[in-house]
Amino acid sequence: MSDEAAAEPVSGEVLASVAEFLGIDAARVGRKSPSFAANPAACANCGKKLDFYDFVTTAAESGEHSKEFMIRFLDSNLSMGRTLPVALTCSACNDKNQVTVSYYYSPGVCGQQI
Ligand SMILES: [Zn+2]
Repeated sequence: MSDEAAAEPVSGEVLASVAEFLGIDAARVGRKSPSFAANPAACANCGKKLDFYDFVTTAAESGEHSKEFMIRFLDSNLSMGRTLPVALTCSACNDKNQVTVSYYYSPGVCGQQI
């Protein structure tokens, strides 16, 4: 059995939550076409589906990445894909979940160069 889960495109609803958290336009987040998966996929405590929003808020609140760093990354033309173990904090109940996340970012091919 593999720990890897296939990353799926992040939904518009989650993109909007992430954009609001970072204080930027949803189009700036969506431009990077983020894909995300967590395994296990749901919070062990409350059953909420763990998503890209939990990933971004965990990174910011743990001090792993500042919001400014993540905004700069989303504005860049860098691609990134990784699978790694993370203690994700559930945004609904604040429980920590030890999961393996798979994520992938790819900048739009027809977007404007910065
Ligand atoms: Zn939860």
